[in-house]
Amino acid sequence: MAQICVYCSSSNGIAPHFFELGREVGRALALDGHTLVYGGGSVGIMGEVARGVHENRGEVFGVMPEALKSREGIAYELADEMVVTDTMQERKAIMFTRAEAFVVLPGGFGTMEEFLEVLTLRLLGYHDKPIVLVNYQGFYDRLIDLFAHFCEEGFAHTSCMSLFEVATTAEETAEAVARALR
Ligand code: AMP
Repeated sequence: MAQICVYCSSSNGIAPHFFELGREVGRALALDGHTLVYGGGSVGIMGEVARGVHENRGEVFGVMPEALKSREGIAYELADEMVVTDTMQERKAIMFTRAEAFVVLPGGFGTMEEFLEVLTLRLLGYHDKPIVLVNYQGFYDRLIDLFAHFCEEGFAHTSCMSLFEVATTAEETAEAVARALR
């Protein structure tokens, strides 16, 4: 049982199967007894993960900056705990500190920023918490290719590729989290 931070899309304009993935990941994490740590939104994949956790008796801890409350569909009302911060930096710091592992689902710029931050902090030795990138239906193929390109061109060491694990389904995600926390 651990506190798992999930980074994912806040967009509602995506295909339905991405929402289903979010719900399944929430379900799988809750069934393993984990608590969700996330950005606190009720929209996009974010909201679905939280609902998937709650439907399976898991706990939800959200962190949201005051200024985003209206933009991200108001905070997820049913969260077991919700912290409202003044800034985005505070939000990220609280999520980072609470988390014992990170899961990155499909997302856009916000998700990317969060993923790259925990990845580079791990690279630099600031933490050693597991990171699972969920490459659902090849969503992150081009990102993984870009990372490989960094390595080929000498901009990053090939060992960087082992800073994160790759899963493709909700089930694999829960397995990867369990393995990494063992
Ligand atoms: P997106 O992947 O763009 O839908 O964003 C997913 C989540 O990341 C949302 O909760 C955003 O508020 C959040 N986000 C966007 N930019 C940042 C940032 N610079 N730092 C922390 N979180 C962010």
